[in-house]
Amino acid sequence: MSIAPSKSVLPKSVDARKLVQREQYLDGVLPLESLDRLRTAVESVNGEIVSELQFGRDLQGHLTVSGKVSCTVELLCQRCLHPVREQIEAQFCWGVVWSEEQGKALPKDLDPVIQESDELDLHQILEDEILLNLPMVAYHDKECVSRESFHIGEVETEAGEQRENPFKVLEQLKGSSGKS
Ligand SMILES: [Zn+2]
Repeated sequence: MSIAPSKSVLPKSVDARKLVQREQYLDGVLPLESLDRLRTAVESVNGEIVSELQFGRDLQGHLTVSGKVSCTVELLCQRCLHPVREQIEAQFCWGVVWSEEQGKALPKDLDPVIQESDELDLHQILEDEILLNLPMVAYHDKECVSRESFHIGEVETEAGEQRENPFKVLEQLKGSSGKS
C-alpha cells in the first residue's frame, strides 16, 4: 500500500440526474474502507478496485449508467482452505429510478438502481456489483499449490527421518559389532 493510487477516488454519492444531463464520464478507484460487505466476503482485496461509469440516456429517455468495476480478491479454496486469487470484472447497465415500481417498468436490459434521496449511493451500488460477481465457491485452478507444498513438507520430514537412519544403522552395527 506504499504506492499512491494512480486514479482519484470516486465520489461516495452522486446526483444521477445532474450527471446524466452532463453525460458525465467518471473513472476512479473505490476505497476499501467504505466496502464493509466486500471486506467480510473475501480474504483480502489485492490492489485497487477500479471503476468507470458513463452517465446518459437510452433511446426511450431512461436515465442510464453503463460501466464496469474490477478488482482482484483472494477467497478461500474449498479444497485446501488456502487463499486462491480471483479476478472480478463486473459490467453493468443501470437504469436509475426513484422507486421499485419504476424499476419494474424498466426494459430488461437495464438493471434498476434506486436513487432514494437526492443522491445515488455510488460506492454501495458498485459494491453490490462486485458481490454479485463473486464466485459462490472458489477452487485452485488445476492443483492446490499450497496443498502440494504441504506434501513436499511431509516428504521432507520423511527424508529427515531417513537421514537419521544411517546413524541408527551405525548404532546397530556398533551394537552388533560389540556383541560379536
Ligand atoms: Zn486449493
